[in-house]
Amino acid sequence: MARMLVEVIRQMGINDPRLLAAVAATPRDRFVPPRSAARAERDEPIPIGHGQPTSQPSLVAQMIDALVLTGTDTVLEIGTGYGYQTALLAHLADRVYSVERYADLAEHARENLAAMGITNVEVVVGDGTAGLPEHAPFDAVVVSAAAAAVPAPLAEQLAEGGRLVMPIAAGVADLVTLFSKRHGRLEKRRSLTPAQFVPLVGKHV
Ligand code: SAH
Repeated sequence: MARMLVEVIRQMGINDPRLLAAVAATPRDRFVPPRSAARAERDEPIPIGHGQPTSQPSLVAQMIDALVLTGTDTVLEIGTGYGYQTALLAHLADRVYSVERYADLAEHARENLAAMGITNVEVVVGDGTAGLPEHAPFDAVVVSAAAAAVPAPLAEQLAEGGRLVMPIAAGVADLVTLFSKRHGRLEKRRSLTPAQFVPLVGKHV
């Protein structure tokens, strides 16, 4: 099932064996609504309710690749959706905290992750723009919805030397951007790709 996605992602130039193994081990049809399961192996966004899409896997892989996870990391994810990206992060990090604003999406994600035997993830319902100060600092942060700038609490909760990936709204498209924290400040490293994300909705945007 996941073999085709592994090929797509490999052809994009991603060759981290741990990331490719995580994609291979994660059946995407289990992370989309059942009515869409048949098209889950296509590299396309799929609607998950509330007008929200789950991102196309190649984009998810690109964002995760930029985080350079080592297996010892504590990761914060904003925008759980159905939990596909969360599952990949769970394979690559020590601990994942994921925040979703819609309680029903969070519940689907919890069920999907549990069904895969994934136990190192905590899905929290709330406004991810505030982060999760009680679990900070985070070695890596990934935001799956776009805003004009990185919410200040997320920059604060990133560990020194940590990486943060987020789509930054830039006119017609969003620019998926990699930041890192140096000397206590968030610095832009590079733009990964233009893409189309839903807006980040919350207090700190
Ligand atoms: N990572 C998911 C993306 C789902 S779409 C995937 O690839 O499947 C983006 C998600 O961000 C939506 O589920 C939306 O509800 C959520 N979202 C938007 N603003 C948010 C906020 N402030 N806090 C938490 N989740 C938010």
